Amino acid sequence: MSAVKAAPVDPLALGARLESAGATAGFRSEPFGDSGGFPLFALTRHTRGPRPRIYVSAGIHGDEPGPPLALLSLIESGEFDGRAVWFICPMLNPQGLARGTRENASGTDQNRDYRHLASPEVRAHVRWLARQPNFDLAVCVHEDWESAGFYLYELNPDGRPSLADPMIAAASRVCAIDQSPTIEGREAKGGVIRPTFNPLEREKWPESIYLQVNHTRLSYTIETPSSLPLATRVEALRAALKAAFAAICAGTWA
Ligand SMILES: [Zn+2]
Repeated sequence: MSAVKAAPVDPLALGARLESAGATAGFRSEPFGDSGGFPLFALTRHTRGPRPRIYVSAGIHGDEPGPPLALLSLIESGEFDGRAVWFICPMLNPQGLARGTRENASGTDQNRDYRHLASPEVRAHVRWLARQPNFDLAVCVHEDWESAGFYLYELNPDGRPSLADPMIAAASRVCAIDQSPTIEGREAKGGVIRPTFNPLEREKWPESIYLQVNHTRLSYTIETPSSLPLATRVEALRAALKAAFAAICAGTWA
């Protein structure tokens, strides 16, 4: 049984707030599955013309309430505007959120299940992803219970212009950056981890590897320390996301 670390969140109430704020901000809500009676859904917003396609996900770890709340806050403040085409999966593990556990109700860490697809939540998510176009940017939004500061993973196999520096700079104005030379067993510098590996050699895939293999050539997993007050975590995630969106939307899209 999973250890309960976070205060449980009511996924129905949070989902209703996300969908309501999304509707006001011009999003379409697309149900794509069910998780123990809680809906799985995506919020999408299309604007015609050349625009970057940006995917953002949150709530895959149920003991991390900050990420879905950060997305709700950004939807409410109008951040997801006509600069981009948006694909948002704001709450990928509602049963975990309801229980305050990292894993889903069956004890599966959904963020290690994107190769074997054992959980119904991940299978439903992958089916939804298969119907989407490729993304110019994907960001998976997380918290970390062990870290002392904000950090991120970058998967950028083609050496595209990195968004790591603007995200770290923005987060550093809200909270400390994890300056450890090693984070989660990987070499890090200034809060940035750039893993190099062959995805096919990895036994368990997090969402980010699945996205790299199937949907995008530029992705980030951003992590804010769970030891900080919830409002600070939300603000750090908001700042980093806004910086990433501003940087990529400033590019040329043909
Ligand atoms: Zn996480």
